[in-house]
Amino acid sequence: MRLLLVEDDPRMAATAAQYLRNSGFAVDVAADGNTALREFAINPYDAIVLDLGLPGIDGLDVCRRLRDREPGIRILMATARDSVEDRIAGLDGGADDYIVKPYALGELVARLRALLRRPAESLPEVLQVGDLLLDTAKRTARRGARFISLTTKEFAVLEVLMRHPGHVLTREHISEHAWDQNYDPLSNVIDVYIGRLRRKVDAAGEAPMLETIRGAGYRLSGKRDAG
Ligand code: CA
Repeated sequence: MRLLLVEDDPRMAATAAQYLRNSGFAVDVAADGNTALREFAINPYDAIVLDLGLPGIDGLDVCRRLRDREPGIRILMATARDSVEDRIAGLDGGADDYIVKPYALGELVARLRALLRRPAESLPEVLQVGDLLLDTAKRTARRGARFISLTTKEFAVLEVLMRHPGHVLTREHISEHAWDQNYDPLSNVIDVYIGRLRRKVDAAGEAPMLETIRGAGYRLSGKRDAG
């Protein structure tokens, strides 16, 4: 899941971005409204964390413009003041939820996960492909009865694949949803992660699920049960 964190306080932005990355999100940071709108136009985000008080175009205005451009985008508004007026303004402006600053980083992650689970294009909490299960809330993976230990990044890549079972995903698609803007398109980092995932997901004696489609990308499918 890829996020845009819009926050003008650089220290708060750095702390929150690091925490979100450790929680498995790919995170880009924008320090003002114009930057946020520009990033939003070029990158596919799953959700936006938007500070209400921003220099230049304020958070409410940014929120309305994001909502106009993409009605389905999940927006979590962060407000410094817990006033009813601010909350109403935020929700009227198109935010899906709000969080009061200063917030606990654990609460930020919990709110985001709740937001990303909400129906509309309903994102399920536990993904299943064949006998492979990924619990995005508990951050666990298992194939049948076998538990699979994954790093944060391996988890993010597998989550992208599991949201599109049976489809060939290009490296570009995977990088857009599991990496932030520091991704280097010339590196072979995705192939490296796929290699690691394949060793973990497809153990000896199990039907292979993760395929490389030459010149196209990767496909995860679980049509057959193991054995
Ligand atoms: Ca601010």
